[in-house]
Formats: sequence, structure tokens, C-alpha cells
Amino acid sequence: MRIAVPSKGRLREPAIELLHDAGLGPETPGDRALAFPCRNAPVEALLVRADDVPEYVQDGVVDCGITGLDIVRESGLAVRELLRLGFGACTLEAAVPAESPVTTLAELRGARVATSFPRLAAELLPEPIDLVDVHGSVELAPRLGLADAIVDLVSSGSTLRTNGLRSVAKLLESEAVLIGPAEPLADAEQLAGVFRSVVDARGARYLMLNAPESAVDAICALVPGSRAPSVLPLSEPGMVAVHSLVPAADVWRLLPQLEAAGASSILLVPVERMLG
Ligand code: AMP
Repeated sequence: MRIAVPSKGRLREPAIELLHDAGLGPETPGDRALAFPCRNAPVEALLVRADDVPEYVQDGVVDCGITGLDIVRESGLAVRELLRLGFGACTLEAAVPAESPVTTLAELRGARVATSFPRLAAELLPEPIDLVDVHGSVELAPRLGLADAIVDLVSSGSTLRTNGLRSVAKLLESEAVLIGPAEPLADAEQLAGVFRSVVDARGARYLMLNAPESAVDAICALVPGSRAPSVLPLSEPGMVAVHSLVPAADVWRLLPQLEAAGASSILLVPVERMLG
């Protein structure tokens, strides 16, 4: 089967890393490669511009593809979102010069708005709107007198600030997605399942700790696990081991609480795959 992967830009490396973590064994592509095979699976990756991925998928040139959700929505093409991939997060935002009196989306009615996302801007901004189609350096448009506001992708917000702009509204939360053709395709669905097991695992940690039996209830209340934590007897009388899956994002908060509840010998290990 064939999968389209962004040939450059910020989605390229994490997309290839996903193929790697899914165990497909992608051959390392050179900078100018247009395609690369995978060692462990009958999968060929085609390197194409992130903007072109929806077209390739819709036309059936590839079975599925990785690109930004913003690009998929802007394309307006008939493709299906199979899986959110957990990287490339950003938001499509409307922003105005810091000194502008505009504070709400409704106040942008009738404004001149520079964007390289004309379809999404027309769909998500209040009507009427005067769109100025620009490609690249959108943030400069207000300063050049080309527009009153912009619609552009933001991740940290520092580019907006550097250019004297202030966000007015978030229009779309985006991240990298796996897309397939509008009609479900068994191969694409199967690959989505493999990727899902990796994406889910990245968000989890396997926690192991020892505790006195008397502390088990308090500890289990802190780590309910995906179903229930495993509680295993230890050779030392009155002591047990508790094993549980915990969200990676909660670890910083959980560890001190577990120690306070009586846990010792706490081990936290990454999870490679999660299924079922
Ligand atoms: P690039 O090829 O590097 O321009 O990236 C294209 C895609 O990366 C965008 O369409 C988004 O889906 C994603 N992305 C993530 N963060 C940002 C950001 N701060 N600015 C632009 N694109 C971003």
C-alpha cells in the first residue's frame, strides 16, 4: 500500500518517526528522495507537499496520507479523517494589530482580512468579509496597509507578538491527521489501527510501585488505571505492588501524591503499544 508523507516542513520528521514507532521500518529517505520503502511491511511512502496530500488521497494515488487538519479542511476535498496523530498542534486564529479597537470576532464584520486560508476564513468569519489572499508572511499584511486583520496558524503566539499582532479568536484547532479516501478502504483502516496503538501509547506511562496493604485504597483512588490497577502480593508480609497505566500528562502531579500516600520504589516506564 502507499502512504503520502509531507516532503518538508514541520510535519515531515514526526510523520516518519510515526512510521518508525509503528514498527514499519521506514528506510531513511535522503533530502531529495521522492519515495521510500519500509523494511517490515509492504508499505511505500510517497514524499509530497503537505498541501498536496488531500488531493493524492482523494484521487486514489495513495491509500492514505499524513497532513495537517487545517490543510484538509482548507482543501475542501472529499477525504476521511481516520486518526488524529498528536503532533503538529496549532490553531487557526484571527488576529489584529495590537492597537486595533477590535476585541471580538463579530467586530471583524466587513474587515479586510489577509490569509492563506481563504476557504476556512470565509467559512469561519462573520459575513461580509473582504479576503486578501496572500501566501507567506501573512503577519506583515496589516503593517503594509494591505489588511485590517489576518487569519493564520499560531502555535506559541510569539510570531504574532513579534509582529505587533493580538489574537481575537481561535477558529480551528489543528494537528497532524491520517486521512483516507471517502469510501472506507480496508488497508487504510488497518494502518490507522496500528498508528492508533502508537499514538495512544505515547500518551500513557506504566507505573509500578510498592506500598503497605493499608495504603492500597488511597493509592488506587489516585491511579484508577485504564480499567483497574493490578495489586500483587510481595514476599514481604503486608506489602503489595501496584501496577497501573497512567496518563503521561498527569505524572508530574501524581508522583508526589503517591509518595505522600505511602508508595515507595516507584518506577515509571514508557509504553510502546496499547491495544484493546
Ligand atoms: P510547514 O510545512 O512547516 O509550513 O507546516 C505545515 C503544517 O504544519 C501546517 O499546515 C500545520 O498543520 C502544521 N503546523 C503546526 N504548527 C504550525 C505553526 N506554528 N505554523 C504553521 N504551521 C504549523
